[in-house]
Amino acid sequence: MSVEDFDVVVAGGGPGGSTVATLVAMQGHRVLLLEKEVFPRYQIGESLLPATVHGVCRMLGISDELANAGFPIKRGGTFRWGARPEPWTFHFGISAKMAGSTSHAYQVERARFDEMLLNNAKRKGVVVREGCAVTDVVEDGERVTGARYTDPDGTEREVSARFVIDASGNKSRLYTKVGGSRNYSEFFRSLALFGYFEGGKRLPEPVSGNILSVAFDSGWFWYIPLSDTLTSVGAVVRREDAEKIQGDREKALNTLIAECPLISEYLADATRVTTGRYGELRVRKDYSYQQETYWRPGMILVGDAACFVDPVFSSGVHLATYSALLAARSINSVLAGDLDEKTALNEFELRYRREYGVFYEFLVSFYQMNVNEESYFWQAKKVTQNQSTDVESFVELIGGVSSGETALTAADRIAARSAEFAAAVDEMAGGDGDNMVPMFKSTVVQQAMQEAGQVQMKALLGEDAEPELPLFPGGLVTSPERMKWLPHHPA
Ligand code: FAD
Repeated sequence: MSVEDFDVVVAGGGPGGSTVATLVAMQGHRVLLLEKEVFPRYQIGESLLPATVHGVCRMLGISDELANAGFPIKRGGTFRWGARPEPWTFHFGISAKMAGSTSHAYQVERARFDEMLLNNAKRKGVVVREGCAVTDVVEDGERVTGARYTDPDGTEREVSARFVIDASGNKSRLYTKVGGSRNYSEFFRSLALFGYFEGGKRLPEPVSGNILSVAFDSGWFWYIPLSDTLTSVGAVVRREDAEKIQGDREKALNTLIAECPLISEYLADATRVTTGRYGELRVRKDYSYQQETYWRPGMILVGDAACFVDPVFSSGVHLATYSALLAARSINSVLAGDLDEKTALNEFELRYRREYGVFYEFLVSFYQMNVNEESYFWQAKKVTQNQSTDVESFVELIGGVSSGETALTAADRIAARSAEFAAAVDEMAGGDGDNMVPMFKSTVVQQAMQEAGQVQMKALLGEDAEPELPLFPGGLVTSPERMKWLPHHPA
């Protein structure tokens, strides 16, 4: 059997897999992505966070495509949750880290969103093979040196690589090859029953695109608008009430909806979708876990392959794409010969565990129903240890930007300000090329203008323009283009 060779092989073409593959290929490395299904394929996880939309998606180069896709705009969340009987709403825009044009996310049909990311990976040079299931890794002592997969004809194939990324989600067993055990949460042991409705009610403008989360006696409901008329509706039920979703699923969902007055009201004139991709009522369970170790020499876990908390704050795609960004930086640094594997991947694992940890810890307190939202905001500040106010800490945590990584927050503003500045320079110079005022054609003047531009950018962006500090003592910082790690040299 002939063995192909790549720098990186990625198993799985969900958001985690497409993101890591693209960010590594963009640095000129040879990447193969193997996806079991043929896209578009169904997936749950439709409510995104600003960190994914304005951080990772911008780095991937798909911001405009995403903005033009017509997905409902999610400006925040509306909760009927805790001691207060009335619903309360938060807006991402109240945090300076997500203000202005970065103060929203989208509610996406995952079949479309995931296909968009996968097609972008192809455009950026990733070799994508659909209908190819990875069956095992190839090992040489401690190290993973490649992967085995079955192609669409059923032929067994082998490929060698410096790194194998497991981004194959929570159903595949590939993650076992990294070593250690998958530890399931004792706290989050809920089950979810979900389906789709046409014609459900909408929240009033300007928050009609918000996720609506409603607690009730057996658990809570999500209500996510996917278009003007299509809504994703799911009941998350405590393990003690598991029998409520056993047996006939249609009957079970109707009974749960009847238990929850606000969701009943929103669905009063709606009909359940019973055909096509959204026709099935689906159940998911045992979805909160964390792998003991996230990497071994030559192998890295990203996204659901590594961990997942709980759907209440829509953190799944954020954790998948953020871990993919962290993994890509580590791989890019090692392949460029800048860092050794252990140093680079320890940084990946520490940052990834920190992000998972803040969601996990905060969510435990969010399930206390006898307190009001101020208590949740205070808890968010405690968990994130941020300098922001209580409510800002809450919004930053659930916007995915509590780590303070500028790649997840400032990217949009930096790009916008650069464009503004370039336009201003052009205007002053009276245009470019032949029409440019002679003084601006001089290289010296252009360099001076560039320097002035950097100073102006610093002034405009304040702290965002300062070099990042390590997230952990002795840790690494991100490179200026955010695609690699650099050692930190304190001034
Ligand atoms: P996936 O999206 O699962 O992608 C993995 C890919 O790998 C798939 O395409 C699969 O076909 C492929 N694959 C599997 N095995 C193999 C193999 N052997 N070889 C090759 N390919 C393989 N997240 C949110 O952000 N917002 C939400 O609102 C939200 N709601 C949720 C509700 C519920 C009830 C649950 C359980 C989860 C929810 N999530 C949500 C989480 C979200 O679904 C996941 O976190 C997210 O899809 C993870 O992305 P991923 O790329 O790691 O994996």
